[in-house]
Amino acid sequence: MFTKILIANRGEIAVRIIGTCKRMGVGTVAVYSEPDFRSLHVVQADEAVLLGGARPAESYLNQTKILQIARDSGCQAIHPGYGFLSENAAFADAAAKAGLAFVGPPGPVIAMLGDKIAAKQLAAAAGVPTVPGHIKALVSYEDAAEVAAEVGYPILLKPAAGGGGKGMRTVYRPEDLASALKMCQQETRKAFGDDAIFIERYIEAPRHIEIQVMADSHGHVIYLGERECSIQRRYQKIIEESPSMALDEPTRAKMGQMACALAQRSGYINAGTVEFIFDKDGQFYFLEMNTRLQVEHPVTEMVTGLDLVELQLRVADGEPLPLKQEHIELNGWAIEARVCAEDTDRGFVPSVGLITRYAEPRGSRIRVDSGVDAGSTVHVFYDPMLAKVITWGKDREQARLKMVRALNGYHIEGIKTNVDFANQVITHPAFISGQLSTNFIAEHLTEQTKRVAPPEKNIHFMAIAATLIHHLRDNLIQNSLLPMRARVGRTSAPRIPPAYIAKSDGFIFAIAIERQIRENEWRVQVNDVRYEVITPPMEYYRRRLKLVINDQPHHFRLRYSGNFIETAFCGNIQTFEIYTPKEWQLAQFMPKPVPKATDNLLRCPMPGLIVEIKTQPGVRVFKGQELLTIESMKMETSVASPVDGEVAEIGVAPGDAVDTGTVLLSFK
Ligand code: ADP
Repeated sequence: MFTKILIANRGEIAVRIIGTCKRMGVGTVAVYSEPDFRSLHVVQADEAVLLGGARPAESYLNQTKILQIARDSGCQAIHPGYGFLSENAAFADAAAKAGLAFVGPPGPVIAMLGDKIAAKQLAAAAGVPTVPGHIKALVSYEDAAEVAAEVGYPILLKPAAGGGGKGMRTVYRPEDLASALKMCQQETRKAFGDDAIFIERYIEAPRHIEIQVMADSHGHVIYLGERECSIQRRYQKIIEESPSMALDEPTRAKMGQMACALAQRSGYINAGTVEFIFDKDGQFYFLEMNTRLQVEHPVTEMVTGLDLVELQLRVADGEPLPLKQEHIELNGWAIEARVCAEDTDRGFVPSVGLITRYAEPRGSRIRVDSGVDAGSTVHVFYDPMLAKVITWGKDREQARLKMVRALNGYHIEGIKTNVDFANQVITHPAFISGQLSTNFIAEHLTEQTKRVAPPEKNIHFMAIAATLIHHLRDNLIQNSLLPMRARVGRTSAPRIPPAYIAKSDGFIFAIAIERQIRENEWRVQVNDVRYEVITPPMEYYRRRLKLVINDQPHHFRLRYSGNFIETAFCGNIQTFEIYTPKEWQLAQFMPKPVPKATDNLLRCPMPGLIVEIKTQPGVRVFKGQELLTIESMKMETSVASPVDGEVAEIGVAPGDAVDTGTVLLSFK
């Protein structure tokens, strides 16, 4: 086995690879960019070498420098992780030329499979069903119009070099084809430096299911079950699971064998993933093959009991696969939730800044792969994914419940994250019953489509958590005001008033602390429903609270500010205002706050870099018109005019770094 490898990546995946290397006794060299100097992967690797500036081109994509560092530090192999150089054929070739093992398939295989058109042709030749369409690059608009008519609308325009959902455009009507094609070409050229585009039938609300394969350099290929990754936003996965509810044993075997056939035919070596989409009738079609370790590989590890990074290293070192297909057993169920720095209320725009508090969920069969900790900074230059939570259960429901609990206890402050949004997904009745599709979020969880109110029980639990904490804190403060002698033995003695009024989201709850049975045991009533509650000893200053309610443990996240307590539970975040009956009466007479006046400034909605300014002073603009483009975390976002008006002055220039709230321009 290698004695030392270089990890050409950052964040959670670099940390995860280091973990396996440590276990196997393989030394690790981390590389990092300037702003990453305090990152977890830098701290945890045996050695760490600075690459350069913040921008990927200056650091994690700097092939020459990475190869130089690998050689100088005596590494025998390079693990590219995912993203960055992981699917770069030239880099794989260059590594091989430099005498380093690339932990992934050979360069020419990456090149062929990286071209979606070539990959589709190969799949078709291997007898794998492909999405109906035209397996050729378009040559002109006329060509596109003809092909689209043949394939039948709606169609999807797809960049051959694609990745991360970039450039893809759905077209529903022939009259929209010309402009969509132009946009797709522009985006494709910018993102991939090549504008080969092809057409596929757009499958409405499909499921995304993929097969993990592993191939060695001795001609053996095996598959390790499937992963369902239908829950996506912006064509990017956020919740994944293995196995998939949509597959029966024969279909699983059929897809697995097809994936292996495709791998074999392409001369594949190492870990790879063959992606399929399923239409409503259960027909499946090949999408593409990803020639690297996937973000969601841990769910496969949980159900197979294998360490995919270990297998990758062994295969890269020339060892034959240690198991045959008949040795692979899928056990139980695993679910993964990606934790991303983003504002889920505002179209999933990235959120950056300093992580001021950080606490991960812990427990048996809960795995957290994280690249951050308290004190980490999240930059605009990199992917917004911070960590992944993976849970395992005997069946899907057990794994799901474990995930709900884990996410309830995941505490991150300083930046916005999707933790509660992920919990909304997995607590949604449609998710519970397994009605998944890539349309899930649009269908169930946008501002317009969100219809499912949280169960009343959950709201009661939140009201109890907020009220009990308020009660305990208030008691503590009152007790500390008593003379020393009176305080002895009194810390837990309940003081009146035992009744509170909690207001949240327009609802009012009457909460009676009926009885304190023991020091930490309570009987509480919420609007006439009675609950038995156990509070942990002395934990009422914590941001995470575990309560046992009617014999079941539940985790809450709390933030207090006076009698306002923000409570997060099962994807819901609600602020409870807690009053004693007397305070409540007084509160009714308090003046209402006056809404703030608007000004004539356009402020930046998110942190990032200005890419383009599409207007000028003196120009009349319309509400909804795109005025600027901002790049943040590998994504470009347009900023639209909030008004009909005339631009007065522009305060920024392309290349400027901006933050949320920076004034971009003013209107007359
Ligand atoms: P990328 O390489 O950019 O990630 P993929 O080909 O893997 O692109 O597709 C990403 C996602 O886009 C899929 O999981 C699916 O949600 C959607 N998608 C791709 N092709 C189609 C299609 N023909 N019809 C409907 N949805 C599709």
